[in-house]
Amino acid sequence: MSRQLDQGPMTLRLFNTLTGQLDDLVPMDGKALRMYACGPTVYDYGHIGNFRTFLQIDVLRRFLKLTGTPVRHVMNITDVDDRIIHNAAALGISIHEYTARFEEAFFEDLEALRVERPEIIACATEHIPRMVELIQRLAAAGAAYRTEDGSWYFRLAAFPDYGKLSKKDLSGMEDGARVDLDEYEKDSARDFALWKAAKPGETSWDTAIGRGRPGWHIECSAMAMEYLGDSFDLHAGGEDLMFPHHENEIAQSESVTHKPFARHWMHVRFLLVDGRKMSKSEGNFFTLRDLLIKGYKASAIRMALISVPYRHQLNFTFDGLIEATNAIERLRTFHQRLTQGNFPPGASPALQSAAETAQADYLAALANDLNTAEARAPIFDLLRAANTSIDQGQLFAADRDAILAVLAGFDAVFDVIEDHDAEPTRRALEWAAQSGRLADVAPELLARQSLTDEAIDALVAQRTQAKKQRNFARADQIRNELAEKGIVIEDSKDGVRWKRK
Ligand code: AMP
Ligand code: ZN
Repeated sequence: MSRQLDQGPMTLRLFNTLTGQLDDLVPMDGKALRMYACGPTVYDYGHIGNFRTFLQIDVLRRFLKLTGTPVRHVMNITDVDDRIIHNAAALGISIHEYTARFEEAFFEDLEALRVERPEIIACATEHIPRMVELIQRLAAAGAAYRTEDGSWYFRLAAFPDYGKLSKKDLSGMEDGARVDLDEYEKDSARDFALWKAAKPGETSWDTAIGRGRPGWHIECSAMAMEYLGDSFDLHAGGEDLMFPHHENEIAQSESVTHKPFARHWMHVRFLLVDGRKMSKSEGNFFTLRDLLIKGYKASAIRMALISVPYRHQLNFTFDGLIEATNAIERLRTFHQRLTQGNFPPGASPALQSAAETAQADYLAALANDLNTAEARAPIFDLLRAANTSIDQGQLFAADRDAILAVLAGFDAVFDVIEDHDAEPTRRALEWAAQSGRLADVAPELLARQSLTDEAIDALVAQRTQAKKQRNFARADQIRNELAEKGIVIEDSKDGVRWKRK
């Protein structure tokens, strides 16, 4: 992308869950914004609900960088938990072997969605000594205790501020009531597990506080403080993490440091399907790969998931993906028109001022609690105005430069105009072939590939299915696509056969 318009220093007003209001987000050390965002649990492929959270955090970091604030962004990878231990054991492999492929898939998906890599990525299993140390400090401060079986718990009664983030009223809480689940019932606050004693056959670590493994909450406290210090600027995650996970992180950290843990808390609202949270347990989810093999582009998924601001829940629909696809198409066509056209020297005062206004409104919308929906509008207004001017021969070289600069500023955050869509789709098709998912691949994508026998089998099966559903147009389309590649289908009473011509 070409040069961006200069913009003066700009302060982001971001909603802070802790204070319940919009607060300025500025680095407390005056240099870089230190932020921690809870990362994935790598027990399976992520779904696009998870990715909505990572995408919105990407919008935040890109906006900060665009407006001149460097970021030091830490993300953890939870590579040990109950599900991981269970699934690895069922396959008879180590937890590391098990998580490695989902971790790799996670980063591939982030790359496909153009989510920038955080400066620091920290795996839980590589920071066990830091967690043990923190538990020892908590014990010394009277905020942790050991149970009969060798597990360690946080004593909620030792932290009177508990509940300050989620604003829960915790009076009537029963002292000493315990829970060892990482996620627990919405309204019950309980002493929670910091360290789980080893059970026979489970992955565990031999440490100064006994043999076992860390709880989920302690991971984030230990790693955040390791890389960002006792106090830092911002902590982020999906809205479900506010309680108990983030509340527990605050309790663990502030009980030993007696300093504010994170100053600013950002919570991304859910991606929904028919009004319910998209989640693995509800079974109402799509992975990125599921959508790519249906023929949706990674850029459209990015656009759809960020165009509704992070503070609003977003209902996932295929219409939404189509809207995003069309919006991107318009932007790309417009961009091409500007870069490939021939414009006479000079400038139109009206367009110069339209470009300036669009740029200012775009930035102001983002600076106002990352309002991505409002930020899009002036860009499309500019696009319309400029297209009209081009049609009338009234757009000049200096206008083109000014408008391209506005588009570059737009793409510094949205990152959808430059086309990077081919590679993610290619990789998703490879994944589908390797994992027996060719039957789910959109026929137009399959037909575009150099056709392996498996891909042809899958297309033939899709045609049979279409005929069964009396969707003859679809069935014919698949037959024609195959015919174009020199593959003929023969229907016989023993079934369907195909051969290469
Ligand atoms: P997990 O891998 O389950 O720990 O989740 C990773 C991130 O995705 C966390 O920040 C969650 O809060 C977030 N998340 C999970 N489900 C959704 C959803 N439906 N919409 C938005 N964010 C979600
Ligand atoms: Zn966390």
